[in-house]
Amino acid sequence: MTCKGICTRYKAQKPVGTGRYASGQKRCQICEIFIKWEGLWCPCCGYRLRTKPRNLKYKAKLRARVEADQLEAVAGRAMEVEEIAPVVAKSTRKAKTTKAVKKVAIEPVAI
Ligand SMILES: [Zn+2]
Ligand SMILES: [Zn+2]
Repeated sequence: MTCKGICTRYKAQKPVGTGRYASGQKRCQICEIFIKWEGLWCPCCGYRLRTKPRNLKYKAKLRARVEADQLEAVAGRAMEVEEIAPVVAKSTRKAKTTKAVKKVAIEPVAI
């Protein structure tokens, strides 16, 4: 499974105004190239082609959105806890503070 140079024949140009995967291009991880190819396997090295993005920027955007949703959910839950059981919330906060202080003390050493 190595690049034989055949893939350059199918090399795809970067599309304007749309994504590579969106325009039907596929990515070969072995040849490190985007190609215009109908099959699922690279015509050059025979490795499975990627048809979905693995773009870090795209992933980060997705993760940021998920995290925002989770924060909202956590905030909502925290408010509920304080309203329903203030005693439990207080003891949890105390434990968290102790942990946070310990972390601060350890961190400069680790860096
Ligand atoms: Zn190749
Ligand atoms: Zn390939």
